[in-house]
Amino acid sequence: MKRILVTGGAGFIGSHLCKRLLDDGHEVICLDNFFTGSKRNIVNLMDNHRFELVRHDVTQPYHAEVDQIYNLACPASPVHYQYNAIKTIKTSVMGAINMLGLAKRLKAKILQASTSEVYGDPVIHPQTESYWGNVNPIGIRSCYDEGKRCAETLFMDYHRQNGVRIKIIRIFNTYGPNMHPNDGRVVSNFIVQALQNKDITLYGAGNQTRSFQYIDDLVEGMVRMMGTDDNITGPVNIGNPHEFTIKELAEKVVKLTGSSSVFVNRELPMDDPKQRQPDISMAKELLGWKPNTDLDEGLVKTISYFKNLEQL
Ligand code: NAD
Ligand code: UDP
Repeated sequence: MKRILVTGGAGFIGSHLCKRLLDDGHEVICLDNFFTGSKRNIVNLMDNHRFELVRHDVTQPYHAEVDQIYNLACPASPVHYQYNAIKTIKTSVMGAINMLGLAKRLKAKILQASTSEVYGDPVIHPQTESYWGNVNPIGIRSCYDEGKRCAETLFMDYHRQNGVRIKIIRIFNTYGPNMHPNDGRVVSNFIVQALQNKDITLYGAGNQTRSFQYIDDLVEGMVRMMGTDDNITGPVNIGNPHEFTIKELAEKVVKLTGSSSVFVNRELPMDDPKQRQPDISMAKELLGWKPNTDLDEGLVKTISYFKNLEQL
């Protein structure tokens, strides 16, 4: 049994990860400032005597004796990370410094939830870990993209300079239960709109692509990455390589919900990446990992979650 700190533990991914770690028999400290996270996501973990909830902001130092740290604290939806852009970049950069400092003192393993956004609007397709990306440093997505890129730099420098036991994963678009209904990301938006028979908002023509990964596959990849030997630092892509246009996603959601919603086109946000697909050869080789849930199966589970939410 290990004691494990999960920052951003009350968010979408963090809540699933906390549950998985408890199911594996570990003690879990879930740290969150509840900016986008919610107690609803972790309420069914509260009774577990191995679970502890801490309200804290990662931009401030935090001390606890732990064996492992998963650093997830950061809003992930463009709507939320652009709401307070300065806070977003502070969270990524100062949060990384604070958590790396803690990992250094404790000689703990630390995993960074990085993102496919480090590739920006990629000109290499599919994206391999060796690609340095095509990121606008001064655009509206930069607070997130550059914050995450700087966090990767900090992780590598703490590793090279101080021998910190780091792991970096680059997560591609992930969806599933516990996404916030007003999160603003495409899967939750489309499902909520379809369930309410409201217009489905396609940004641009809907020809841009994403590769959607179901949450359970991601959590398995995260745990496997944390379990690797110290010589494996990453970055490693974790995503589902099956690529869809946003319009195809919308069509699937409408079909699976039996909705009468119609599509409407809205302005494409600035710097919206045109395509995104992970090359997962490295994850396959190093972690023996690949995604197992296809989009239809994952959408059915996610739709069922949103149907049962009271305050839709
Ligand atoms: P989320 O917004 O649901 O969760 C983020 C959590 O971090 C929330 O609980 C929020 O309250 C908390 N948080 C934010 N700022 C904080 C701060 N300063 N101090 C403490 N807690 C703070 O998003 P998610 O989808 O669960 O994403 C989790 C992590 O995974 C993020 O770091 C995100 O960048 C990364 N990621 C997610 C995806 C995806 O598709 N979901 C893709 C790539 C990377
Ligand atoms: N998108 C859309 N309609 C929405 C929300 C998003 O067409 O209601 C598009 C968005 O422009 C982007 C893609 O869906 O091209 C994925 O957006 P999301 O915010 O989920 O994540 P991103 O990968 O852009 O960070």
